[in-house]
Amino acid sequence: MADDVVSPEPQDETELAVEGALRPQSLGEFIGQHKVRGQLQLLLDAAGMQDRPADHILLAGPPGLGKTTLAMIVAHEASRPLRMSSGPAIQHAGDLAAVLSSLTPGEVLFIDEIHRMARSAEEMLYLAMEDFRIDIMVGKGAGATSIPLDLAPFTLVGATTRSGLLPNPLRDRFGFTAHLEFYETDELESVVDRSAAVLGVDLGPEQRGEIARRSRGTPRIANRLLRRVRDWNLVHAGGGAVTLEGVRAALELYDVDAIGLDRLDRAVLDALVRRFRGGPVGLSTLAVAVGEEADTVESVVEPYLVRIGLMGRTPRGRVATPDAYEHLELPVPEGV
Ligand code: ADP
Repeated sequence: MADDVVSPEPQDETELAVEGALRPQSLGEFIGQHKVRGQLQLLLDAAGMQDRPADHILLAGPPGLGKTTLAMIVAHEASRPLRMSSGPAIQHAGDLAAVLSSLTPGEVLFIDEIHRMARSAEEMLYLAMEDFRIDIMVGKGAGATSIPLDLAPFTLVGATTRSGLLPNPLRDRFGFTAHLEFYETDELESVVDRSAAVLGVDLGPEQRGEIARRSRGTPRIANRLLRRVRDWNLVHAGGGAVTLEGVRAALELYDVDAIGLDRLDRAVLDALVRRFRGGPVGLSTLAVAVGEEADTVESVVEPYLVRIGLMGRTPRGRVATPDAYEHLELPVPEGV
């Protein structure tokens, strides 16, 4: 799925570099997520007034909705340095001890995909978050001793696409958890508008709307579609103002459907409807049927299909809704 133009995951180094240029720097520039923005602002203001690091923050939600961006904004707004790490990079308690012990006072530590951190590191993190202290084990077996080490106070910003996988003791140690939601079309239009200005793309409101509607509720995808539209316009129309036909032709070329579903979304929907006759079917069975990891189907595909009402979750498994049949242009069976 990584090469799909509507994949919500970043595709490569070039994309990461462009994303850097498109990232809002302050809460004021950050579009949408009003509630979360207000909550973060309060947290930062209170910490600023008391001249202490802000409480630890957990950002939960599907990929591409702005978790990394918000972590950067937290550091920027608090005028604190930012250290970036990720769960998969922390496979031993020692990896975490090395990061924690080198933090400077007030630093913001961002751990992306925090649910993928090693268990032993997780336990070390509990103490670090609560008391700004860790115990380092020296030696092995009967002669092993633990040496306490004080840490500089810091703010942990954790990001996860699977908050359900976080153990309760870890979740409880965050002073604030923000659940990021998919964006509304008008918010995505603002994202496209802002990015078009940064990239120097001449785009009218209709064209903006078309890109926004097909962006799967995700700013990362909106920015990516915008860049493909810009390329198409340059190659096929010699640059200048982008036409609606240009937007549609570019998106068609990249296999983005009218409501922004990608190949994997459609494959899952198709398997659910045709192969499993609309369900209920277990998530892992569905994932095997489309040759994808259950984790990807659960954290990337399912949330959006549920959000736009094409898939339902029941205690017995996933089910297709009448809209799913209609989207696939199939007759809706009796009783669905
Ligand atoms: P995540 O960490 O949740 O996967 P990112 O923070 O890396 O997502 O965001 C992906 C891209 O989308 C970045 O280029 C970022 O600038 C853009 N983006 C995300 N949220 C917003 C927003 N609210 N306003 C403007 N741009 C956004």
